[in-house]
Amino acid sequence: MMDLKELTRPNIWNLSPYSSARNEYSGHTANVFLDANENPYNSPLNRYPDPLQSELKTLVARVKGVPAECIFLGNGSDEAIDLAYRCFTQPGVNNVVAIEPTYGMYKVCADINDIEYRPVLLDNGFQMNADSLLSACDADTRLIWLCSPNNPTGNNLKRNEIEEVLRRFHGLVIVDEAYSDFSTERPFRLDLDKFPNLIVLNTMSKAWGCAAIRLGMAFASKEIISLFNKVKYPYNISSLTQEQAIEAFKDPYKVDKWIKIILLERTRMIDAFGMLPSCKKVYPTNANFFLAEMDDAQATYDYLVRKGIIVRNRNKVALCANCLRITIGTKTENNELLAALRQRIG
Ligand SMILES: *Cc1c(COP(=O)(O)O)cnc(C)c1O
Repeated sequence: MMDLKELTRPNIWNLSPYSSARNEYSGHTANVFLDANENPYNSPLNRYPDPLQSELKTLVARVKGVPAECIFLGNGSDEAIDLAYRCFTQPGVNNVVAIEPTYGMYKVCADINDIEYRPVLLDNGFQMNADSLLSACDADTRLIWLCSPNNPTGNNLKRNEIEEVLRRFHGLVIVDEAYSDFSTERPFRLDLDKFPNLIVLNTMSKAWGCAAIRLGMAFASKEIISLFNKVKYPYNISSLTQEQAIEAFKDPYKVDKWIKIILLERTRMIDAFGMLPSCKKVYPTNANFFLAEMDDAQATYDYLVRKGIIVRNRNKVALCANCLRITIGTKTENNELLAALRQRIG
């Protein structure tokens, strides 16, 4: 790996971050706060939130098995994705490499930051090959984007290929594990010690059932996390979000129960789709959704919309011609989808 300083945008490396009122006071117990121009009324919403979310991070550290100083919390994973560009790439100079197809935000953030985005097609089994990813890199490549289980394909990438990329690439490798709660693979966040160039993304939006609160996580070396903290908006996570996330992390068993039900339903849905005349193929999945190749994805999508059922049409995505991406819902919702597809005439 290149030296972190060499990888970092020079203005970011040299940045003196904004110092908020709540940053400057620390340590002593206090009960009179006249430092932040807050209104003294309307408690508790009148107070600025903890800028570094220390209570929440203590819980995240315990649940996720990652030290608190190796955790960044953002306004969704999307904040961490954007920060990776803003910290480690120079607009108009650097490029990034990513698997294709994958989650759309990696490219959108590349475009916003004026960074060349180099997609490398997966094989027909939606697997990546370390050699082909690395051969798309040059001296100006700063980031490689991986997603496992991948979206929209659902499958885990092969662990040994990911590790080979981590070992051989001179820049940073981001492994987005938004769906790892649904997989039995060992999550990469537990291997931060082995790979100083690894950034792992997690989110509250999927298995944890908290898409509304907007909370994403990045796990990485404490040096990388310090850079993210320097660049983020001072109060990027609201008090309301911090409180809701603390409540959620106090009860991880509830999430385990949801996951178990979702995985049972996933098996049932995959079997049922396999028997639909309009379905040609169901791809193997390690996530809470599956990709189904249909006779005519657009026609099926339009038919389902008329029935008030919305799935994701991935027909225009590379390697996904005529594919629909189906999220696993409740048993009732899943049955509604199956009934609609079975009733369909033409
Ligand atoms: C849904 C999803 C996310 C979650 O993004 P948030 O901004 O945290 O809601 C991240 N990565 C992938 C691959 C996803 O599919």
